[in-house]
Amino acid sequence: MAYVIAEPCVGTKDTSCADVCPVDCIHPTQGEEHFETATILYIDPNECIDCDACVEACPVDATMSEDDVPEQFEIFKEINRVYFDEGHAEGEKMLAKYLESKAS
Ligand code: SF4
Ligand code: SF4
Repeated sequence: MAYVIAEPCVGTKDTSCADVCPVDCIHPTQGEEHFETATILYIDPNECIDCDACVEACPVDATMSEDDVPEQFEIFKEINRVYFDEGHAEGEKMLAKYLESKAS
């Protein structure tokens, strides 16, 4: 299992979750490459230890356990995974596609 960052992070991206993560698996955060251009922060599912700290920290309830992801945010499991497996551009592309599909 792992935790996931979902759509409510868009427009907030305040890095509170990354600040409390004990294993530093939330990226890109302040000072890291791609922070300025990232639409949201992402959780590396291969590194997350399911400690739950990011849930309490997030002001907009964007962080959640994979098991608690509501149906409308299912895609975010894949978006977070792709960000780390395939890189920043691919993760951002997938997120942009999702946001576009919602807007149309
Ligand atoms: S559940 Fe814990 S380890 Fe996983 S992303 Fe959140 S703070 Fe980091
Ligand atoms: S705490 Fe919530 S809003 Fe802030 S960066 Fe993390 S997921 Fe996004």
